[in-house]
Formats: sequence, C-alpha cells, structure tokens
Amino acid sequence: MIEQIFKMSTENEKEGRKMQKFICIPCGYIYDPKIGDPESGIAPGTSFENIPDDWVCPICFVGKDEFEAVKEK
Ligand SMILES: [Zn+2]
Repeated sequence: MIEQIFKMSTENEKEGRKMQKFICIPCGYIYDPKIGDPESGIAPGTSFENIPDDWVCPICFVGKDEFEAVKEK
C-alpha cells in the first residue's frame, strides 16, 4: 500500500519535470514545453530532454548546454 503511494508520487514528479521550462542563459529566451519551438520543428508538448541535441536557441543560436531549468513556484 505504502509502496503504491510512493510510486504514484514519483510518477507525478516525472510529469511535472516533463513540463519544465528552460531558459537560455546568454539571451533569456525561455523554452516552454507546452509551446515547443514549431519554427525549428519542435512540436508542442516536447520536453527539453527530448529536443534533439543539435537544436539551438532560436534567438542566439547557442546549444542546449547553455540552457538551465527555470525555477518557478
Ligand atoms: Zn539564446
């Protein structure tokens, strides 16, 4: 029973992380998974981790390495 509850909360956390926004450190562009980046072929609902590694910031063209998770409450 307890294990089941634990499993559920872990899955909810995963779901939350999937919609995690990421900010481009050099230019401040925010990648929002709900919106994606349709101009670069990233469909809405694509989590940051699932973006291809050759994707670059549409504003300043840096790679994913320059992005960090946006902390928001
Ligand atoms: Zn940028």
